[in-house]
Amino acid sequence: MTAPDHHHWMTRAIELAEQCPVVEGAFSVGAVIVADDQEIATGYSRETDPKVHAEESALDKLDPADPRLKAATIYSTLEPCSERATKTRMPCTDRILAAGISRVVIAWREPSTFVEDCIGVEKLKENGVEVIELPELADAAMAMNRHLDLS
Ligand SMILES: [Zn+2]
Repeated sequence: MTAPDHHHWMTRAIELAEQCPVVEGAFSVGAVIVADDQEIATGYSRETDPKVHAEESALDKLDPADPRLKAATIYSTLEPCSERATKTRMPCTDRILAAGISRVVIAWREPSTFVEDCIGVEKLKENGVEVIELPELADAAMAMNRHLDLS
């Protein structure tokens, strides 16, 4: 088994993030779910409805019982959210845990633009999920979010 090509898949997620309808109040994010070196689902912010998140949109395309999920990696350009403005919808961190995904690869951490303190990475790690950050791709992953306050 060869090592997974994190840069290849994150670049794919960044391409998806570029497809997001741009809005003032939310980030543009892309996500790819990969199992056995195959893309099994993709998603991006606001893909299917104005509130849908990238990871959520990708997960919605798979059967929750899909056996490939246990060995899957989700690539997301941004840290999965741990809290949502839309309280009726599950944060992506919880969706990832519920799906049983074992590895999450992100390019940048959620800044405090919309949520005071995102603890997506911390919560995933606490639950035994491997989290890999690719800071070298953070600039590319943030490029479509420059109109927002990223401080
Ligand atoms: Zn989310």
